[in-house]
Order: sequence, then structure tokens, then C-alpha cells
Amino acid sequence: MKKLSIIFCICTLLLCSLLAGCGSKEPAPAADHKLRVVVTFNAMKEFTQAVGQDKIHITSLIPDGTEPHDFQPTTKTMQALSNADILIYNSNGMERWVKQAVKAADNKKLVTVEASKGIKLIGLTDLDLIIEHGRYDPHTWLSLSCAQAEVKNIAQALAQADPANADFYKKNAQVYHLKLQELLLKYQTLFAQIPQKNFVTGHAAFAYLCRDFGLQQQSIEDVFASGEPSAQNLAKLTAYCKEHNVKTIFVEEAVSPKTSETLAREVGATTQEIYTIECSNGEKTYLTRMEENLDAIYKSLKK
Ligand SMILES: [Zn+2]
Repeated sequence: MKKLSIIFCICTLLLCSLLAGCGSKEPAPAADHKLRVVVTFNAMKEFTQAVGQDKIHITSLIPDGTEPHDFQPTTKTMQALSNADILIYNSNGMERWVKQAVKAADNKKLVTVEASKGIKLIGLTDLDLIIEHGRYDPHTWLSLSCAQAEVKNIAQALAQADPANADFYKKNAQVYHLKLQELLLKYQTLFAQIPQKNFVTGHAAFAYLCRDFGLQQQSIEDVFASGEPSAQNLAKLTAYCKEHNVKTIFVEEAVSPKTSETLAREVGATTQEIYTIECSNGEKTYLTRMEENLDAIYKSLKK
């Protein structure tokens, strides 16, 4: 079954690349000579925008409203890759389709940037997940310290591809780095002052955030937002909430709140939104959403 789906995937990619080729034999040169950057999902867009600002064109490959963990490339993806100068993605564990898609797009000048490169990754323990998604938890962008490393990697790539604006990219990256640092220090101080460290969320997206602050997450769904819990797992979560006096169950934009609401009722907690920054959320920036996340987690632990 697994083999079949991989073969299907490769065929789709080849077909897509053929179709992309028919539409535009040569990548259209950008009239203004700005770098054409394609990014995968929302957090990558935010980091790249912060660094590149008005000196680059950004296109997102994963349409808003599509859950990035479920995404498969389409004809449109292949067209965008054929016409881009740089592709910025988070990691081989997050966007498993990238390598094949880049190969199929066959764009000789495309520079590929894995934003999480160099970050110490958190290993997965569930064998089924490892077989399907690789060895590591991909949610690095939800850690402020990892975000600093990602922004640096992105700035280096932009500077290399566009040396005339290298200083501009580096300066913007430094400014953004400081904003991330300020938020990181503020919440490291706050979390250190409270004994409660445990929270419950929709899917297990916050391991890197937990690493920054010495916190522990439990979740309704697994790392890749699949696997609604069995009655047995729900009973375990209920016991966990009672043991750790969990008063807030966090729910995410892309995860059905039903089970979270059931759990909250069961343990006398309330539900509250948390952002995984895999999709956009109106006008809210990465920094705004991270601050709201940290504020909400902090307040829930203080209750
Ligand atoms: Zn996720």
C-alpha cells in the first residue's frame, strides 16, 4: 500500500512537471529583478518576509486553509518551483514532498534552503510515525530560539543569492533576532517562577517551545495531527489533567475541537485557541501569535 502511494506520488509529480513545462518553457524573468522566493507554509513566509521585505517576491506553495501535514504538490506547486530563484522550506520531516518535487521541477538555478538546518532536532519514539514521517519532530518554528536559527539561515541564503542587498538582509535578520530574543527572555523569566509545567493541546506541535521553557505538553492528536485518541487514551489524558490540575485545554485552528471540548468538560477545564502558525491567521504576525501563545500558556499554568 505504502509502495503504491509512493509510486502514485512520483507519477503525479512527473505529470505536474510536464504540465508546468507546457505552460511556460522558460521561467519568466522578473521585470524588476527582485528575487523570486517560494516558501512552503505560513511560518516560513513570515520569517522570509521579515528578512527580505520589499526586496523579494514571495509565493506560498501551500494554499491557506490547507493543513501542511496533509499537503501534496499540485500543478501549481510545480509551476511556482519552475519559476523561482529560491525555495525556503522548514525541514525534510515537515515537507516530505520537497525533494521529489524539486527534482521533478528540474529548475537548474533553483536554490533550496532547509531553514531548520543546524538545529538540534527532537527525535520521535513512535515507530509508525518514524516510518511515515522520518525520525524527527519537525515543529522547530514554534520555538523562539529555533526561529532565530531559521531566520539566520534564511538571511544567509538571500544574501548569497542577492549580494547587492546582503547588508539589508543581514540587518533585518538582526532586528528580528532581537525581537525573538526579547520575547524568549521575558517568558523564560516568567515560566521559571511557576511550579506548574504541564499543558494539554490539540496536536503535539510544541515540543521545541517546551524545550525553550522547561515545559511539558500532552496532546489529543499526535505530532502530525493524525490519530484521534481511543477511549483508553482519552481516559489517560483525563487522569493526566486531574493529576496536574490542568485548567485549560488548548485547541488549534486546524484541529477539530470536539474531543478537546469533551476532555475539558470531563476535567472541569475551559478550551482556548493556540496557534501552530502552520496556516495564516488574519493579520496576526508570527510574533503576535507567539506572544499570545506564551501568554495563554503562562496564564493557564498560573491558574
Ligand atoms: Zn503540526
